[in-house]
Amino acid sequence: MSLILILFDGARADAFDVPLAHGELGHLARLRAEGGLHTVTTVFPSVTGPAYAPFLTGRYPGPVGLPGLRWYDRAHTRCRVPPYCRSYLGAEMRHMDRDLDPAAPTLFELAPSRFTAMSMISRGARGRAQMGRDPRLLWNLARTHWRGDARAWFAIDELTARTAQARILAHDPAITFLAFLALDKCSHASGHASPGAHRALVALDQFVGALRADVERAGRWDRTHLWIASDHGHSAVAAHDDLADAIRGAGHRVIAHPWVFTPRADVAVMVSGNAMAHVYLDPSERRRRWWPSLTDRWALLADGLLARESIDLLLLPHRADRCEIRARDGGTAFIDRHHDRIAYRPATGDPLGLGDLPPLDSIECHEATLAGQYPDALVQIMALAGAPRSGDIIVSAARGWDLRARNEPIPHVSTHGALLRDHMLVPLLTNHRPARQPRRTVDVMPSALRVLGLPVPSAVDGCSFV
Ligand SMILES: [Zn+2]
Repeated sequence: MSLILILFDGARADAFDVPLAHGELGHLARLRAEGGLHTVTTVFPSVTGPAYAPFLTGRYPGPVGLPGLRWYDRAHTRCRVPPYCRSYLGAEMRHMDRDLDPAAPTLFELAPSRFTAMSMISRGARGRAQMGRDPRLLWNLARTHWRGDARAWFAIDELTARTAQARILAHDPAITFLAFLALDKCSHASGHASPGAHRALVALDQFVGALRADVERAGRWDRTHLWIASDHGHSAVAAHDDLADAIRGAGHRVIAHPWVFTPRADVAVMVSGNAMAHVYLDPSERRRRWWPSLTDRWALLADGLLARESIDLLLLPHRADRCEIRARDGGTAFIDRHHDRIAYRPATGDPLGLGDLPPLDSIECHEATLAGQYPDALVQIMALAGAPRSGDIIVSAARGWDLRARNEPIPHVSTHGALLRDHMLVPLLTNHRPARQPRRTVDVMPSALRVLGLPVPSAVDGCSFV
């Protein structure tokens, strides 16, 4: 058996619906008829990079060391020199494989053979088994990113398609993992339903058709699984609020990209997506403190943030297994984890709109939240808020807003990163019928191992749908 996993970066759960209904995506329609098109939840933060971790490790990103696209390394575990922070946009992407917990093996490490292209995580794939890390291509990518030309990403997707098609035909890797990026870039620049985004859907369909024809001619289609999934959705942005500027305006000295060398900083602001942020208080302290002990010094800042129209939810971690949630208009509630059960208790309000929930296991938590405004929020908040590298305040933006107003090469008319439904629900298209309904993107990795006949590591967060 072999598995080809296409990560169609930035596809919202409904991305295929209209063109499929118009009969435009014939090859994808055929896959859907043979297997199925499902809606699953991604992870928080719903952003490229951290949201690749579930596909490749079966784990949520916070606990395996990837709390955001940008994060501050308070404990100096990985960033040993100032300014002690990471941004995986650009040259620091090369650190991602080693920032990822070495105890969380990747599909590339576990499978007998592999090929990957344009994946931000590629640990276990080296030399000709991976495309996207050689210096010339990285330079080309950096130029494409900073030029801000969304259309240039089509050329990179075409290179991915060409290289992968040749590699799959010649070497038949057990696992192939490809990331296509033009849809996300076009969605940011001109909207998730723009002509550019549509062109990316058509290009994906053509690639799937050509690849399938090759694999059928080679007599291998029957033993090939082809899955298409996404790491996050998208929603339109009407206004930008620069969170770092807002905190500077309240009289603080702030570390935030791109101005990270701030002497005597008392706050670090690390935005991802751009609809979520980690806010680190007293970043020069090497040890993390928890709420409510931060209240005396930082209650005003938290209140000030919550008063902003751009902010929907504030998460204030009290312990690794307890988190306070505050909503702008919805009061306060607490999430507690005991062993593998999570309880949600409204206090002065019901920010997640769930009512009082008794301790539930991971699957019950998914079911209890799936139809609401924040799908899988209970499990995702607990996974991120208690993670050692997370901020002391975690911000999820309000619908229509994101949290960076400057220094973006591509204009952002659409965003992701938050706990919102449009960011958290993604499609999963498979060419074989699953044994049960897929739930989360973390389910993909154990399912892939089952397809390949390999054992599933006991620590994974997902469960196989194969
Ligand atoms: Zn994006």
